[in-house]
Amino acid sequence: MEKKIPHRFYLTEEQMPKQWYNLRADMKEQPEPLLNPATGKPVSEEELYPIFCKKLANQEMDSTTRYIDIPEEVLEMYKIYRPSPLCRAYNLEKALGTPAKIYYKFEGNNTSGSHKLNSAIAQAYYAKDQGLTSLTTETGAGQWGTALSEACAYFGLPLDIFMVKVSYEQKPFRKAVMQVFNGNVIPSPSNTTNIGRKILEENPNTTGSLGCAISEAVEKAVSTENCRYVLGSVLNQVLLHQSIIGLESKKAMEILGEYPDVVVGCAGGGSNLGGLIAPFMKDKLDGTKPDMRFVAVEPASCPSFTRGKYAYDFCDTGKITPLAKMYTLGSGFIPSANHAGGLRYHGMSPILSKLYHDGYMEAVSYEQTKVFEAAVQFAKCETILPAPESAHAIRGAIDEALKCKETGEAKTILFGLTGTGYFDMKAYSEFLEGRMNDYIPTDEDLEKGFASLPKLN
Ligand SMILES: *Cc1c(COP(=O)(O)O)cnc(C)c1O
Repeated sequence: MEKKIPHRFYLTEEQMPKQWYNLRADMKEQPEPLLNPATGKPVSEEELYPIFCKKLANQEMDSTTRYIDIPEEVLEMYKIYRPSPLCRAYNLEKALGTPAKIYYKFEGNNTSGSHKLNSAIAQAYYAKDQGLTSLTTETGAGQWGTALSEACAYFGLPLDIFMVKVSYEQKPFRKAVMQVFNGNVIPSPSNTTNIGRKILEENPNTTGSLGCAISEAVEKAVSTENCRYVLGSVLNQVLLHQSIIGLESKKAMEILGEYPDVVVGCAGGGSNLGGLIAPFMKDKLDGTKPDMRFVAVEPASCPSFTRGKYAYDFCDTGKITPLAKMYTLGSGFIPSANHAGGLRYHGMSPILSKLYHDGYMEAVSYEQTKVFEAAVQFAKCETILPAPESAHAIRGAIDEALKCKETGEAKTILFGLTGTGYFDMKAYSEFLEGRMNDYIPTDEDLEKGFASLPKLN
């Protein structure tokens, strides 16, 4: 008889991974290097020191070390909320009438409500270890700012958070949570930086964007002594830290005698998806699992993979960061106010961009009402109220399961449930009251963003 798989499966503390996995070490074709916009030449590790702390600059550039030890202090804080459960969505399977087995890795079991804490802890730890005295960052929906506030409070580091204005106004309680953890929250664009003042001058009514908030945070970091900027997604170092999600998932599935046929995740800057798929992608790259599929799900309002260009671009609107080769809508692209704030970024992780470009990954996009339909169905079946970002992955997983219903294939689906949606109830209300619009950018809208791409392409 088949072994009964539990609804929620936890590794023990002893079984938790002690190292992160660096997928680049197993990529025969490497992502393109970061470029210095002034010279057009690849940046060196030393050139990153004014922006990132040394250890993180080192991780950013390291494409050869396969496994990297998780520092003891980081593991100690991980153990407060990890391992996270691998869940079997029995009720959702039943409701869908699908022969597929649906698993999800739930990362919302901490106060920040998302996977972002996994990288926040590492980044705050390395900053403290290097003797830095403060950090700056940006936050879109607020999850990253919350996660970093928690980590900074734990390690005793002051933090300035530039919060995208639309979220600042929509989510006052997010701000309050950050303040509980001593985070100093500033709506972006703000008049506290040169770039913020310039953007406000050109466009006084702007609701802000992640790219713009990044510019402000970077400017503040480079103009403040002993201060560095930290970023919650996109970068190689963040994908490295998030590999804990995939490593735990893979180990848990191994113990249960399972292996996914398809892995689905939502893609904003690509960190949760990159972390979730990393150890599985290893098996595809080395030929162990050639038919395995990986699906990135993004909002139709900010379609970096599905309608973007694979090009060198700035990571921020202010054009002060190094250039990354990635799928991008252009750093000047300001998406309409999609509620999944964490997915409103113009670019995509260079690692995932390369894998997608080389055909190792697929991508789909959905309008937000389709996404919220999936969120509500999932909440009723599984009792977790998902974040709108996470609901993109749910939508993708449900559609994979419905395909199985048509073909009769009993596939094993794994998706990343990145967080909870308690601060997104305004969006849920709009959906439930039928007031939610699905804005999809026209080709003309996208052309405006592409026009902001740097000329070296
Ligand atoms: C930030 C966020 C995302 C998207 O970010 P990635 O870097 O693409 O993972 C997804 N889900 C939640 C809950 C988030 O907070």
